[in-house]
Amino acid sequence: MRKLQQSPERFENYIGGQWVPPATGEYAPNRNPADLDDVVGHYPASGAKDAQAAIQAAKDAFGGWAGTPAPSRGRILAKAVEIFRSRIDELARALCREEGKTLAESRGEVMKGINLFEFYAGEGFRLRGKTVPSEMPKTLTFTLRQPLGVVALITPWNFPFAIPAWKSAPALVAGNTVVLKPASGTPATAMLMAKVLHDAGLPKGVFNLVAGSGGSVGNALVDHPDVKAVSFTGSNATGMALNERCARRGIRVTCEMGGKNPVVVLQDADLDLACTGILQGAFGSTGQRCTATSRVIVQRPVSQQVIDALVDGARRLKVGNGLNAGIDMGPAVDEAQLKTDLRYIEVGQSEGAKLLTGGRQLKGGDYDKGYFIEPTVFTGVEPGMRIHQEEIFGPVIAIIEVDTLDEAVDAANAVEFGLASSIYTRDANAAMSFIERSEVGMVHVNNPTVGGEAQLPFGGWKSTGIGEREMSEEGAEFFTQLKTVFFDYTGQARQSKIY
Ligand code: ADP
Repeated sequence: MRKLQQSPERFENYIGGQWVPPATGEYAPNRNPADLDDVVGHYPASGAKDAQAAIQAAKDAFGGWAGTPAPSRGRILAKAVEIFRSRIDELARALCREEGKTLAESRGEVMKGINLFEFYAGEGFRLRGKTVPSEMPKTLTFTLRQPLGVVALITPWNFPFAIPAWKSAPALVAGNTVVLKPASGTPATAMLMAKVLHDAGLPKGVFNLVAGSGGSVGNALVDHPDVKAVSFTGSNATGMALNERCARRGIRVTCEMGGKNPVVVLQDADLDLACTGILQGAFGSTGQRCTATSRVIVQRPVSQQVIDALVDGARRLKVGNGLNAGIDMGPAVDEAQLKTDLRYIEVGQSEGAKLLTGGRQLKGGDYDKGYFIEPTVFTGVEPGMRIHQEEIFGPVIAIIEVDTLDEAVDAANAVEFGLASSIYTRDANAAMSFIERSEVGMVHVNNPTVGGEAQLPFGGWKSTGIGEREMSEEGAEFFTQLKTVFFDYTGQARQSKIY
């Protein structure tokens, strides 16, 4: 097996099957947001030249990889699954240190990423086209799904393992070669992923990773003529700009962006179940999930009970360094996100919403080492308010009280985003009516807004998403192009009967 060593302090880009120092010669430290004294490592601050080198390596590898039978490509992913499983603890710890979510949450994320590799390993046997009857005699008509070429994957900091996995696995099994640019603040786990793919025997150049900022590496990838598709997850501002750049080049793009996900609680709901789910959905991963529950729309007869339970639940959560046992919620990922959270809490108060609990940065003792914030609950929120409309990406719940299911549906839909929604009720008719009318890509019943499974399409409506769904078969389809084949075995000139 090829030897691949990284220094524990300084990490390099992964290009053409090797660790390569950035052409810029520059590195940036990545610190644990729960403990700024804990330096996870120094990571390349790469530039356009590094992006170009990775694209060239991917281009050189494309012919061989595209020509490898898809089941064999899948088998390499299956081998990676085996190796990932043997390194779960290492991956989870790295993820916890670089992103701040708790060890349990980190483990969950790693498992999810592994499931995605497992699902797409099997997809190597399926990548189906279709065979349909032709109008013509002795003519076989069918479709083939073929890879696009070099694809760029640009990922955010909030799921530093699962999102690179859910983009890389389908791209690879479909026969593309990949350049991944992880978020500049969280490249560590993605680098471990590169190492596992290497150890699984992925040929050199098939998967490449360049660490650095969006402005320098991201733009260089998106604008390069050899990049045939871009798959992006991140903020709306960046995604919309990136979509425009890709449109100018006429290449395929998928952007998975913001959310402002509501949970509706009807008066007949199991309120314990609802409140437990809301607390998980809102404060899990410190609210830093595109599917996080950020709005609770509750029917008035039970609203006080729900409000009391959520305030009580929020106050009971133990906030701290996710590496320690017994911690329920980690820090904000960085200073900028902490400031955003605090700014929105001020905005909520100035708009007239009532702050019931939380709202402050946690200070003193070990809290001074990181970016900790209290779980926060607002009530008296109206659909026109900014804390109802805008994605905060922090541990903040906005509660809206309504009288009827119709009002709840209107409030749920009264945002620009359309990622996920949820309803808690025992009334099947109400649930189905909500499912039909909810303007989102994913609806949950008696379940928090969070979560996705490898075998189910993931993505949103409205301003949340552009392009194909991710995960599932749809996720692989994005990375293929269709070819329709007309195979005439009459041995005679065509005599068309179609006019
Ligand atoms: P988030 O802060 O939620 O991660 P961003 O949209 O800021 O969302 O970043 C998502 C990813 O997009 C990151 O990897 C980031 O470096 C990258 N990115 C930022 N700006 C650009 C850009 N102009 N072109 C390409 N990628 C970019």
